[in-house]
This record gives sequence, structure tokens and C-alpha cells, in this order.
Amino acid sequence: MSFRERYDAVKAECEAICLAHGRDPHAVCVVAVSKTVGLPEIEAAAAAGAHNFGENRPDMLAQKACALPEQTWHFIGNIQSRKIEEIVRNASLVHSLYQPHHVAKFDAAASALGKVQEVLLEVNVSGEESKSGLAPDEVASMLEVCSQYAHVRVRGLMTMAPQGNADEARNCFAKLAQLAEELKVGMEPAKAECFNELSMGMSEDWREAVAQGATIVRIGRALFAEDFNEPLDIH
Ligand SMILES: *Cc1c(COP(=O)(O)O)cnc(C)c1O
Repeated sequence: MSFRERYDAVKAECEAICLAHGRDPHAVCVVAVSKTVGLPEIEAAAAAGAHNFGENRPDMLAQKACALPEQTWHFIGNIQSRKIEEIVRNASLVHSLYQPHHVAKFDAAASALGKVQEVLLEVNVSGEESKSGLAPDEVASMLEVCSQYAHVRVRGLMTMAPQGNADEARNCFAKLAQLAEELKVGMEPAKAECFNELSMGMSEDWREAVAQGATIVRIGRALFAEDFNEPLDIH
């Protein structure tokens, strides 16, 4: 199968899952996670209709976004203070903000570049030690921190589910969606209106995420790898 066939199949199934769950079939943005491939593969993907790409290293993000500036670039990786300026320069949406002391740095970098940086707050819903992110009960105070800064706009939440078990993944995604709803209740209407993105679901569990309300899925191997096989026990 070509990238185009895999991408079309993901999009079609995504629309079908949305319809089955009473959602707008075009409610989900498929981010093609391009961290394992080079520019030729990304150019081919763009020619096949993909225009949102995700990178997890600031240097690779910069290199690829500078080469292909007409595409929309997402930063999905670990954030280090000294890389924030480079991330802000190149990313439309940052999925992985969770450290309060990074917010002022994002604000300063965005202000200097004349932009408002759109971000998602990463939440460690499952509580696994190997995962980074805010505990669910820390998100409200992080939102308070972000609201002090005019050049940072929180668009929603992001999470990664435990791997290998569809029920656990579903449960994790449902909890993130529920948390977002609860947080919206306490927000000013203008803020709540912008707070509508849920970035959840990867190659192995994006179907569960779409069923639970994902507005953004981040898919790498299932789009770019020739030999990606679904784990047998996930669905
Ligand atoms: C690599 C990565 C993905 C994509 O993973 P696949 O399993 O290849 O789909 C999604 N989100 C994050 C944060 C990643 O680092």
C-alpha cells in the first residue's frame, strides 16, 4: 500500500467512526507524525493530501518546517527551555506543554515573533510513571498560569494512553474528554470557546480516541510504515 492508500483509509474510517458516534465526520484533524521519515516522504504525503505534520524534536521540526513552510507543523515532543524559541518559530500548535515555568518563555518567544502560540496541555491521565504531563488535578492551576500571558492560547488537552489494551485506552480517552468538559464549566465564555481540542490517539489506538471525542489524532507508523501491523489484542 502507498501512503495515499493508507491515508485515505484512515480518513474514511475516521469519518465512519464519527458518524457512528453522532459526530461531525470532518471533526478530526489527522496529524501525520513524520518523525521517522525525511523530506521526500513528507513531500509525497503532502501530494497525497496530508497537510498537518507532527515532529518531536525541535531541530527536526525546524529543518522540515523551513523546507516545507506551506504545511502545518505540530510539535509533539518533550520541551526543553532552551529550545522554546525554536519551537515557537516553527510550530502552529504545541501539543506537549505541561511545565508551569515554560509558559513565560513561550509567551516571550511568541511576543518577540509577533504571534500567539497555540498550545495544548499534556495530561498524564493514566498516571504511569514513564509518561510526562500534568496530573488531572493540576490542569486547572496550569490554566490559571497560562491565562496570565497574552501570547499563549490554550486550545485544549493532549494525552497518550497506556499501550496494548483497547479498554484501558478507551478509558483514558474518556477521562480526558470528561476533564476538558469539567474545565470548560469554570472558564470565561471567550476562553471556553477556544478550548475545544482533544489530541489523543496514535497508530494503535486512534479508533478508540475518535470514538471518545478526539479532534486531533497523531498517527505515525500506521501512515508511514510499510509493515505496520495492528496489535491483535487492541480492538
Ligand atoms: C511518535 C508519536 C506519535 C505517533 O506514534 P505512532 O505509534 O507511530 O502512531 C504520536 N504522539 C507522540 C507524542 C509521539 O511521540
